[in-house]
Order: sequence, then structure tokens, then C-alpha cells
Amino acid sequence: RGGFVPPIRNNGGSGTTISRVTGKGDDSMEDSTRKCIEMLCGPDGELPEKLRNLEPRLIEHVSNEIMDRDPNVRWNDIAGLEHAKKCVTEMVIWPLLRPDIFRGCRSPGRGLLLFGPPGTGKTMIGKAIAGEAKATFFYISASSLTSKWIGEGEKLVRALFGVASCRQPAVIFVDEIDSLLSQRKSDGEHEASRRLKTQFLIEMEGFDSGNEQILLIGATNRPQELDEAARRRLTKRLYIPLPSSEARAWIIRNLLEKDGLFMLSEEETSEICKLTEGYSGSDMKNLVKDASMGPLREALQRGVEITKLSKEDMRSVMLKDFESAMQEVRPSVSSNELGTYEEWNKQFGSLS
Ligand code: ADP
Repeated sequence: RGGFVPPIRNNGGSGTTISRVTGKGDDSMEDSTRKCIEMLCGPDGELPEKLRNLEPRLIEHVSNEIMDRDPNVRWNDIAGLEHAKKCVTEMVIWPLLRPDIFRGCRSPGRGLLLFGPPGTGKTMIGKAIAGEAKATFFYISASSLTSKWIGEGEKLVRALFGVASCRQPAVIFVDEIDSLLSQRKSDGEHEASRRLKTQFLIEMEGFDSGNEQILLIGATNRPQELDEAARRRLTKRLYIPLPSSEARAWIIRNLLEKDGLFMLSEEETSEICKLTEGYSGSDMKNLVKDASMGPLREALQRGVEITKLSKEDMRSVMLKDFESAMQEVRPSVSSNELGTYEEWNKQFGSLS
């Protein structure tokens, strides 16, 4: 009772302490881990309830690898997808910005599913939501939970939701969510993945019933694999389709303009858009990258040395560069696959 209060209480104290978390003395913890844990402690120096009894290295992993303090994507960076942007703004961003208004009847769903072909901007939307709503963004690929974190997935999931609840408002983006919440394979389902799935659903249930400002976004290219329990929790389900012709034009212009390389006429741009029917946003990005190499390759072929090459040696990027890039970069989504998404959207998607 000498008046000395240690900044972090030891095992004998009544509060939660770093040493109680580790189960060992404070010395056993790396400095970086200690710092990370300390940052999550409240003003009283106590670790929030949700993080107690979690392994510090998992908390550190979530804070350093999964949490993104500055997702750095805005609506204006995303081409097209007006329907998705409108729905998301109303359903997610406003409630995160004004939780006082969005309660009772207006209380928002806490689970959003973005489905559609790969490379269409689902991850970008997740990041933009966090950016626009000034929320902390957590990104995890569900397949890494089942592959890289074998046997530890459950603990990591608890750490993820625990840290997110200390960093509210928060957006948890689970990529390839189908690999986590797929339909129960009646006999073959692995015990470990069943437990992981159960843990995940428990965590979701937890923040769904509480007042936490956490939004879970699941993204998938295989929505048909999700089971009924997953669909029930992901109340809003938005189809993120391939980019329209206008959106493709926007991507071309935007990427080239960033480097001061956009010199295409309107006719050339619309010709490229015609030829790129079926390309995803990410295919378009790869196409632009390849096309922008055209002038460089041509200058080198003329004999200019790479070490002496200057801007003046290179002509602007032209239609023919895109035409030859199209030989290299093919659309990555087949029309069969598109049919499956449209069917699923009709049956389970949020159409308005
Ligand atoms: P998904 O999560 O749907 O697989 P991403 O959001 O990761 O796809 O997109 C991959 C990349 O493709 C992005 O970094 C971006 O460069 C490009 N891209 C995809 N869709 C769009 C879009 N609608 N607008 C602008 N760029 C896009």
C-alpha cells in the first residue's frame, strides 16, 4: 500500500495484465508485441475483456498484418458499379457515420455479401467503405485461415473480432468467404473446419445482437457454395458484375492519365471498349499495362538503348498497342460463369 502503482499489474493483481494474457512474465514478450498490446489497453491500462486470454502474437498479427489503418481507396477510384455504391452508402456508410439515427427500425444489417466474377472491384468496395466511413479496415482471406493457420484459425478469428471491437467503427472484409462458410459437406467435413466455421458464426452473432459498430463484408466468386446459415447472416447480397463499356473506358482513361499517357481519341477509346467486352476490371488494368509497353518496345526495336531512352523517343499509346495487348491479355471470366452469377442474383441477390 506504499502508493506505487505499476503501469502493468502482475499476475497477482485483480485486473487483466499483459502477464496474465501471456500466462508468463512480461519479459517473455517481444517489444513489438508489448507495444501492440499496450496500444489496445484502455485509459485504465486494462486490456478490454474481448482480448483477454488471447495469445499476444495473434493479437499482434491482427494489428500488423490484417488491420489496415489507411485503406486509401475512395468511391471515385472505382469505375461504374453505381447500384452497388448507392446501396452501400445507404446501408453501411450512413449508419457508420450516424449510429444515433440508424437504430430501431432503421438499424442496419451487419453482414454484406459482395459476389461476382474475380477482379471486378469487390475488395476495392470494401476498402472504399472503410475509407468513406472513416472506419478501420481488416482484410483476411478465408482460405488463409484454413490453409496457413491450420489448427489456429479459431483463435485467429477470435483475435480478429476482438481487435475489431476495440477499433470501432470497423469493417472486416473476408475474401473468399465461401471457403469458410460453404455448405456443410455432411460426412466429409473436416472437424477443424467445422469448428472454425462455428466460431466464425458465433462471433458474427455476437456483434449482430450488440451495439457494436462492426460491419462484416464477405466476398466470393462462388456464391452458390454458401449455405443457408451464411446467407441468413449476410443480409444484403450485392452482385458486382463485369464493368460496362463506359466503366472500361473510364479505367483506360484513368490509368493512362495518371501517367500522363492518355492521348486516345474518343473513337479509339470506344473501339477498345467494343473489343474488350467480357474483360473484368483487373483484366482491363493488365491490358492497359501491356498496351503502355508498346511505345517502349517499338523504340527499343528502332535501336534506342534502354539506358539512353528518353520520353521524346516514345510515341503515345495508340489503338494498335491495345490490339496487340489483347493477344496477350485475354478475358479471365467465361460467359458460362456469368450465367451462374446472374441466376444466383435472381434467387438470392438484393436487387434494389
Ligand atoms: P475482386 O476483389 O473483385 O477480385 P479487386 O477489387 O481486388 O477485385 O480488383 C483488382 C484490381 O482490378 C483493382 O486493384 C483495380 O486495379 C482493378 N479493378 C477492378 N474493378 C475495378 C473497378 N470497378 N474500377 C476500377 N478498377 C477496378
